[in-house]
Amino acid sequence: MSEPINFYDLNQNGLTEFVVAAGHQKFRAKQLMKWVYHQGITEFSAMTDLSLAMRAWLAESVCFDLPEVVHHAVSKDGTAKWVVRLASGNCVETVLIPEKSEGRVRNTLCVSSQVGCMLDCTFCSTGKQGFNGNLSTAEIIGQVLIANQMLAERNEAVTNIVFMGMGEPLLNYEAVMAAADLMMDDFAFGLSKRRVTVSTAGLVPAIHEMMGRTDMSLAVSLHAPNDELRNGLVPLNRKYPIKELIRVCSDYIESLGERRSMTIEYTLMDGVNDKLSHAHELAELLANVRCKINLIPFNPFPGSGFKRPSMNRVRAFQTVLMQRGFATMLRTTRGDDIDAACGQLVGQVQDRTQRQARYREHLKAGRTAAQTRRIAAKELA
Ligand code: SF4
Repeated sequence: MSEPINFYDLNQNGLTEFVVAAGHQKFRAKQLMKWVYHQGITEFSAMTDLSLAMRAWLAESVCFDLPEVVHHAVSKDGTAKWVVRLASGNCVETVLIPEKSEGRVRNTLCVSSQVGCMLDCTFCSTGKQGFNGNLSTAEIIGQVLIANQMLAERNEAVTNIVFMGMGEPLLNYEAVMAAADLMMDDFAFGLSKRRVTVSTAGLVPAIHEMMGRTDMSLAVSLHAPNDELRNGLVPLNRKYPIKELIRVCSDYIESLGERRSMTIEYTLMDGVNDKLSHAHELAELLANVRCKINLIPFNPFPGSGFKRPSMNRVRAFQTVLMQRGFATMLRTTRGDDIDAACGQLVGQVQDRTQRQARYREHLKAGRTAAQTRRIAAKELA
Protein backbone atom coordinates (compact mmCIF):
# COMPACT_ATOMS: atom_id res chain seq x y z
CA MET A 1 0.00 0.00 0.00
CA SER A 2 1.32 3.48 -0.84
CA GLU A 3 2.10 6.11 1.82
CA PRO A 4 -0.92 8.19 2.91
CA ILE A 5 -1.11 11.65 1.39
CA ASN A 6 -1.05 14.65 3.74
CA PHE A 7 -4.43 16.42 3.47
CA TYR A 8 -2.85 19.82 4.10
CA ASP A 9 -0.56 19.40 1.08
CA LEU A 10 -3.49 19.67 -1.35
CA ASN A 11 -5.24 22.77 -2.57
CA GLN A 12 -8.81 22.39 -3.84
CA ASN A 13 -7.69 21.36 -7.35
CA GLY A 14 -5.25 18.83 -5.96
CA LEU A 15 -7.82 17.36 -3.60
CA THR A 16 -10.43 17.16 -6.36
CA GLU A 17 -8.01 15.29 -8.63
CA PHE A 18 -7.16 12.98 -5.75
CA VAL A 19 -10.76 12.02 -4.95
CA VAL A 20 -11.77 11.76 -8.63
CA ALA A 21 -8.78 9.50 -9.39
CA ALA A 22 -10.06 7.15 -6.67
CA GLY A 23 -13.48 6.99 -8.37
CA HIS A 24 -15.34 9.48 -6.11
CA GLN A 25 -17.41 12.46 -7.22
CA LYS A 26 -15.80 15.86 -7.68
CA PHE A 27 -17.96 17.70 -5.12
CA ARG A 28 -16.67 15.42 -2.36
CA ALA A 29 -13.50 17.50 -2.25
CA LYS A 30 -15.45 20.58 -1.13
CA GLN A 31 -17.36 18.53 1.47
CA LEU A 32 -14.08 17.27 2.86
CA MET A 33 -12.55 20.73 3.00
CA LYS A 34 -15.57 22.06 4.91
CA TRP A 35 -15.24 19.30 7.51
CA VAL A 36 -11.56 19.91 8.03
CA TYR A 37 -11.09 23.66 7.64
CA HIS A 38 -14.48 24.98 8.78
CA GLN A 39 -15.39 22.47 11.46
CA GLY A 40 -11.92 21.35 12.50
CA ILE A 41 -12.87 17.67 12.17
CA THR A 42 -10.20 15.24 11.05
CA GLU A 43 -11.91 12.02 12.13
CA PHE A 44 -13.34 10.53 8.94
CA SER A 45 -15.84 8.46 10.95
CA ALA A 46 -17.52 11.75 11.98
CA MET A 47 -17.99 12.92 8.36
CA THR A 48 -21.54 11.67 8.17
CA ASP A 49 -22.38 12.98 4.68
CA LEU A 50 -19.70 10.76 3.10
CA SER A 51 -20.40 7.14 2.25
CA LEU A 52 -18.96 4.45 4.52
CA ALA A 53 -16.84 3.19 1.61
CA MET A 54 -15.35 6.63 1.04
CA ARG A 55 -14.64 7.10 4.73
CA ALA A 56 -12.83 3.77 4.83
CA TRP A 57 -10.77 4.72 1.77
CA LEU A 58 -9.89 8.12 3.29
CA ALA A 59 -8.83 6.56 6.59
CA GLU A 60 -6.28 4.46 4.70
CA SER A 61 -5.14 7.06 2.16
CA VAL A 62 -5.00 10.39 4.00
CA CYS A 63 -3.15 11.71 7.05
CA PHE A 64 -3.14 15.09 8.82
CA ASP A 65 0.51 15.47 9.85
CA LEU A 66 1.49 18.89 11.17
CA PRO A 67 4.81 20.34 12.32
CA GLU A 68 5.48 19.92 16.03
CA VAL A 69 5.63 23.03 18.23
CA VAL A 70 8.91 22.90 20.18
CA HIS A 71 8.87 26.43 21.57
CA HIS A 72 6.26 29.14 22.07
CA ALA A 73 6.83 32.63 23.47
CA VAL A 74 4.64 35.70 23.82
CA SER A 75 6.23 39.14 23.90
CA LYS A 76 5.19 41.86 26.32
CA ASP A 77 3.64 43.64 23.32
CA GLY A 78 1.47 40.58 22.49
CA THR A 79 3.56 39.34 19.57
CA ALA A 80 3.72 35.54 19.62
CA LYS A 81 6.41 33.31 18.21
CA TRP A 82 6.40 29.57 17.59
CA VAL A 83 9.39 27.41 16.73
CA VAL A 84 8.14 24.35 14.87
CA ARG A 85 10.01 21.18 14.00
CA LEU A 86 9.53 19.85 10.49
CA ALA A 87 9.63 16.25 9.27
CA SER A 88 13.25 16.88 8.20
CA GLY A 89 14.21 17.64 11.83
CA ASN A 90 14.92 21.31 11.05
CA CYS A 91 13.09 24.05 12.92
CA VAL A 92 11.55 27.22 11.51
CA GLU A 93 9.82 30.17 13.13
CA THR A 94 6.37 31.70 12.77
CA VAL A 95 5.36 35.05 14.20
CA LEU A 96 1.89 36.41 14.98
CA ILE A 97 1.48 40.17 15.30
CA PRO A 98 -1.84 41.19 16.85
CA GLU A 99 -3.02 44.78 16.46
CA LYS A 100 -6.18 46.54 17.56
CA SER A 101 -7.25 49.85 16.16
CA GLU A 102 -10.64 51.55 16.27
CA GLY A 103 -12.18 48.40 17.70
CA ARG A 104 -10.95 46.26 14.79
CA VAL A 105 -8.67 43.31 15.33
CA ARG A 106 -5.90 42.47 12.92
CA ASN A 107 -3.90 39.29 13.47
CA THR A 108 -1.04 39.18 10.97
CA LEU A 109 0.85 35.91 10.67
CA CYS A 110 4.34 35.91 9.24
CA VAL A 111 4.99 32.40 7.86
CA SER A 112 8.26 30.71 6.91
CA SER A 113 8.54 28.96 3.56
CA GLN A 114 12.11 27.64 3.59
CA VAL A 115 14.58 26.26 6.12
CA GLY A 116 17.08 29.12 6.21
CA CYS A 117 17.63 30.97 2.95
CA MET A 118 20.10 30.67 0.10
CA LEU A 119 20.01 34.32 -0.94
CA ASP A 120 22.23 35.58 1.87
CA CYS A 121 21.20 39.22 2.01
CA THR A 122 23.97 40.85 4.01
CA PHE A 123 21.73 42.41 6.68
CA CYS A 124 19.55 39.35 7.35
CA SER A 125 20.09 36.93 10.19
CA THR A 126 18.08 34.17 8.44
CA GLY A 127 20.48 34.47 5.50
CA LYS A 128 23.38 33.74 7.85
CA GLN A 129 21.84 30.38 8.78
CA GLY A 130 22.52 28.82 5.40
CA PHE A 131 19.88 26.78 3.61
CA ASN A 132 18.53 23.32 4.13
CA GLY A 133 15.44 22.88 2.00
CA ASN A 134 11.88 23.85 1.28
CA LEU A 135 8.79 23.53 3.42
CA SER A 136 5.90 21.48 2.07
CA THR A 137 2.48 23.07 1.61
CA ALA A 138 1.33 21.18 4.73
CA GLU A 139 4.22 22.63 6.75
CA ILE A 140 3.24 26.15 5.68
CA ILE A 141 -0.48 25.57 6.32
CA GLY A 142 0.43 23.98 9.64
CA GLN A 143 1.78 27.35 10.81
CA VAL A 144 -1.64 28.95 10.16
CA LEU A 145 -3.46 26.16 11.98
CA ILE A 146 -1.16 26.45 14.99
CA ALA A 147 -1.76 30.21 15.25
CA ASN A 148 -5.51 29.77 14.78
CA GLN A 149 -5.56 27.21 17.58
CA MET A 150 -4.18 29.80 20.01
CA LEU A 151 -6.40 32.59 18.70
CA ALA A 152 -9.54 30.42 18.97
CA GLU A 153 -9.17 30.70 22.76
CA ARG A 154 -10.18 34.36 22.42
CA ASN A 155 -12.63 33.81 19.54
CA GLU A 156 -10.26 35.23 16.97
CA ALA A 157 -8.42 33.93 13.92
CA VAL A 158 -5.56 34.94 11.64
CA THR A 159 -6.78 37.82 9.46
CA ASN A 160 -3.67 38.54 7.36
CA ILE A 161 -0.80 36.36 6.19
CA VAL A 162 2.58 37.46 4.89
CA PHE A 163 5.21 35.13 3.43
CA MET A 164 7.92 37.10 5.18
CA GLY A 165 9.34 34.58 7.62
CA MET A 166 12.38 32.46 6.89
CA GLY A 167 13.25 31.92 3.25
CA GLU A 168 12.59 33.33 -0.20
CA PRO A 169 9.06 32.09 -0.91
CA LEU A 170 9.35 32.23 -4.69
CA LEU A 171 12.23 29.76 -4.57
CA ASN A 172 9.63 27.33 -3.17
CA TYR A 173 7.11 28.30 -5.81
CA GLU A 174 4.75 25.30 -6.10
CA ALA A 175 4.33 24.71 -2.37
CA VAL A 176 3.84 28.43 -1.68
CA MET A 177 1.27 28.84 -4.47
CA ALA A 178 -0.74 25.85 -3.23
CA ALA A 179 -0.60 27.18 0.36
CA ALA A 180 -1.73 30.62 -0.80
CA ASP A 181 -4.61 28.98 -2.72
CA LEU A 182 -5.79 27.41 0.54
CA MET A 183 -5.39 30.66 2.47
CA MET A 184 -7.66 32.44 -0.04
CA ASP A 185 -10.10 29.56 -0.66
CA ASP A 186 -13.58 30.02 0.83
CA PHE A 187 -13.64 26.28 1.52
CA ALA A 188 -10.46 26.63 3.60
CA PHE A 189 -9.31 29.85 5.32
CA GLY A 190 -11.23 32.25 3.06
CA LEU A 191 -8.92 35.26 3.42
CA SER A 192 -9.18 38.07 0.90
CA LYS A 193 -6.49 38.32 -1.80
CA ARG A 194 -5.54 41.67 -0.32
CA ARG A 195 -4.73 39.99 2.98
CA VAL A 196 -2.35 37.34 1.71
CA THR A 197 1.00 38.73 0.62
CA VAL A 198 4.05 37.10 -0.86
CA SER A 199 7.25 39.00 -0.17
CA THR A 200 10.20 38.46 -2.47
CA ALA A 201 13.78 39.68 -2.74
CA GLY A 202 13.15 39.95 -6.49
CA LEU A 203 12.99 36.67 -8.32
CA VAL A 204 11.93 38.13 -11.66
CA PRO A 205 11.01 34.93 -13.59
CA ALA A 206 8.84 33.68 -10.70
CA ILE A 207 6.97 37.01 -10.43
CA HIS A 208 6.32 36.68 -14.15
CA GLU A 209 5.00 33.18 -13.60
CA MET A 210 2.61 34.41 -10.91
CA MET A 211 0.61 36.35 -13.51
CA GLY A 212 -2.59 34.44 -14.18
CA ARG A 213 -1.66 31.81 -11.54
CA THR A 214 -2.54 33.81 -8.42
CA ASP A 215 -3.95 37.16 -7.40
CA MET A 216 -2.40 37.45 -3.96
CA SER A 217 -0.70 40.70 -2.99
CA LEU A 218 2.97 41.35 -3.68
CA ALA A 219 5.69 42.93 -1.57
CA VAL A 220 9.27 43.46 -2.70
CA SER A 221 12.21 43.74 -0.35
CA LEU A 222 13.98 46.57 -2.12
CA HIS A 223 16.20 48.17 0.56
CA ALA A 224 18.10 50.36 -1.93
CA PRO A 225 17.23 52.82 -4.70
CA ASN A 226 20.08 51.92 -7.10
CA ASP A 227 21.89 48.81 -8.32
CA GLU A 228 25.27 49.70 -6.89
CA LEU A 229 23.94 49.83 -3.35
CA ARG A 230 21.49 46.97 -3.77
CA ASN A 231 24.14 44.65 -5.23
CA GLY A 232 25.94 44.87 -1.89
CA LEU A 233 22.82 44.29 0.23
CA VAL A 234 20.79 41.81 -1.83
CA PRO A 235 23.19 39.67 -3.91
CA LEU A 236 20.27 38.49 -6.07
CA ASN A 237 20.20 41.98 -7.54
CA ARG A 238 23.28 41.17 -9.60
CA LYS A 239 21.17 38.69 -11.51
CA TYR A 240 17.93 40.70 -11.64
CA PRO A 241 18.68 44.42 -11.46
CA ILE A 242 16.24 46.95 -10.06
CA LYS A 243 14.70 48.25 -13.30
CA GLU A 244 13.92 44.73 -14.50
CA LEU A 245 12.45 43.92 -11.09
CA ILE A 246 10.26 47.02 -10.93
CA ARG A 247 9.02 46.39 -14.47
CA VAL A 248 7.84 42.84 -13.77
CA CYS A 249 6.27 43.88 -10.45
CA SER A 250 4.34 46.67 -12.20
CA ASP A 251 3.15 44.16 -14.82
CA TYR A 252 1.97 41.83 -12.08
CA ILE A 253 0.12 44.60 -10.25
CA GLU A 254 -1.47 45.78 -13.52
CA SER A 255 -2.61 42.20 -14.14
CA LEU A 256 -4.57 42.32 -10.86
CA GLY A 257 -6.66 45.32 -11.88
CA GLU A 258 -6.66 49.04 -11.31
CA ARG A 259 -7.29 49.14 -7.62
CA ARG A 260 -4.35 47.00 -6.51
CA SER A 261 -0.93 48.23 -5.51
CA MET A 262 2.27 46.62 -4.25
CA THR A 263 4.30 47.10 -1.09
CA ILE A 264 7.93 48.18 -1.13
CA GLU A 265 9.86 46.99 1.92
CA TYR A 266 12.83 49.18 2.78
CA THR A 267 15.01 48.33 5.78
CA LEU A 268 16.85 51.44 6.95
CA MET A 269 20.47 50.93 7.99
CA ASP A 270 22.40 53.73 9.58
CA GLY A 271 24.69 55.51 7.11
CA VAL A 272 24.13 52.82 4.46
CA ASN A 273 20.82 53.46 2.69
CA ASP A 274 19.12 56.05 4.90
CA LYS A 275 20.41 59.33 3.47
CA LEU A 276 17.96 61.93 2.22
CA SER A 277 19.50 61.57 -1.24
CA HIS A 278 18.47 57.89 -1.13
CA ALA A 279 14.90 58.88 -0.26
CA HIS A 280 14.78 61.23 -3.27
CA GLU A 281 16.31 58.58 -5.52
CA LEU A 282 13.72 56.06 -4.29
CA ALA A 283 10.93 58.53 -5.03
CA GLU A 284 12.24 58.96 -8.60
CA LEU A 285 12.51 55.21 -9.10
CA LEU A 286 8.95 54.57 -7.93
CA ALA A 287 7.38 57.65 -9.51
CA ASN A 288 5.15 55.61 -11.84
CA VAL A 289 4.66 52.53 -9.68
CA ARG A 290 1.42 51.88 -7.79
CA CYS A 291 2.86 51.19 -4.37
CA LYS A 292 3.03 51.99 -0.71
CA ILE A 293 6.32 51.98 1.14
CA ASN A 294 7.06 50.24 4.43
CA LEU A 295 10.09 51.57 6.26
CA ILE A 296 11.67 49.15 8.70
CA PRO A 297 14.42 50.42 11.02
CA PHE A 298 17.11 47.71 11.04
CA ASN A 299 16.95 45.21 13.92
CA PRO A 300 20.58 44.56 14.90
CA PHE A 301 21.86 41.02 15.55
CA PRO A 302 25.34 39.93 16.68
CA GLY A 303 28.01 40.44 14.04
CA SER A 304 25.67 42.04 11.51
CA GLY A 305 27.91 45.09 11.16
CA PHE A 306 24.87 47.34 10.61
CA LYS A 307 23.23 49.77 12.99
CA ARG A 308 19.71 51.04 13.42
CA PRO A 309 19.40 54.70 12.45
CA SER A 310 18.15 57.28 14.94
CA MET A 311 14.44 58.03 14.88
CA ASN A 312 15.28 61.51 13.58
CA ARG A 313 16.93 60.04 10.51
CA VAL A 314 14.07 57.59 10.01
CA ARG A 315 11.46 60.35 10.28
CA ALA A 316 13.39 62.59 7.90
CA PHE A 317 13.54 59.76 5.32
CA GLN A 318 9.82 59.14 5.73
CA THR A 319 9.01 62.84 5.38
CA VAL A 320 10.76 63.08 2.01
CA LEU A 321 8.75 60.15 0.67
CA MET A 322 5.48 61.50 2.03
CA GLN A 323 6.17 64.92 0.60
CA ARG A 324 6.77 63.24 -2.75
CA GLY A 325 3.28 61.72 -2.50
CA PHE A 326 3.96 58.16 -1.29
CA ALA A 327 1.87 56.42 1.36
CA THR A 328 4.73 55.56 3.71
CA MET A 329 4.33 53.44 6.83
CA LEU A 330 6.89 53.17 9.55
CA ARG A 331 6.98 49.61 10.81
CA THR A 332 7.37 49.69 14.56
CA THR A 333 9.54 46.96 15.97
CA ARG A 334 7.43 44.24 17.53
CA GLY A 335 8.46 41.23 19.58
CA ASP A 336 12.17 42.03 19.83
CA ASP A 337 12.22 40.76 23.45
CA ILE A 338 11.49 37.27 22.06
CA ASP A 339 13.68 37.64 18.93
CA ALA A 340 10.62 37.80 16.71
CA ALA A 341 11.27 41.15 15.05
CA CYS A 342 11.84 41.53 11.31
CA GLY A 343 15.11 39.93 10.22
CA GLN A 344 15.63 38.14 13.54
CA LEU A 345 14.12 34.77 12.63
CA VAL A 346 16.67 32.01 12.66
CA GLY A 347 15.05 28.68 13.63
CA GLN A 348 17.46 25.77 13.82
CA VAL A 349 18.91 25.00 10.44
CA GLN A 350 21.08 22.01 9.69
CA ASP A 351 23.18 24.12 7.36
CA ARG A 352 24.05 22.29 4.15
CA THR A 353 25.81 25.33 2.72
CA GLN A 354 28.27 25.69 5.62
CA ARG A 355 27.52 29.42 5.51
CA GLN A 356 27.21 29.76 9.29
CA ALA A 357 30.68 28.30 9.76
CA ARG A 358 32.21 30.58 7.12
CA TYR A 359 30.46 33.60 8.59
CA ARG A 360 31.72 32.80 12.09
CA GLU A 361 35.25 32.31 10.75
CA HIS A 362 35.24 35.71 9.09
CA LEU A 363 34.01 37.35 12.29
CA LYS A 364 36.52 35.44 14.43
CA ALA A 365 39.31 36.55 12.13
CA GLY A 366 38.31 40.10 13.00
CA ARG A 367 37.15 40.99 9.50
CA THR A 368 34.72 43.83 9.25
CA ALA A 369 31.18 43.30 8.04
CA ALA A 370 32.12 45.01 4.76
CA GLN A 371 35.05 42.62 4.23
CA THR A 372 32.83 39.68 5.08
CA ARG A 373 30.31 40.92 2.53
CA ARG A 374 32.97 41.28 -0.17
CA ILE A 375 34.20 37.74 0.45
CA ALA A 376 30.61 36.45 0.42
CA ALA A 377 30.01 38.31 -2.87
CA LYS A 378 33.03 36.61 -4.46
CA GLU A 379 31.82 33.23 -3.21
CA LEU A 380 28.44 33.88 -4.78
CA ALA A 381 29.73 35.13 -8.12
S1 SF4 B 1 16.13 39.01 3.53
FE1 SF4 B 1 14.75 37.36 2.81
S2 SF4 B 1 15.66 36.74 0.85
FE2 SF4 B 1 17.27 37.89 1.93
S3 SF4 B 1 18.45 36.32 3.05
FE3 SF4 B 1 16.86 37.08 4.44
S4 SF4 B 1 15.16 35.61 4.20
FE4 SF4 B 1 16.52 35.38 2.41
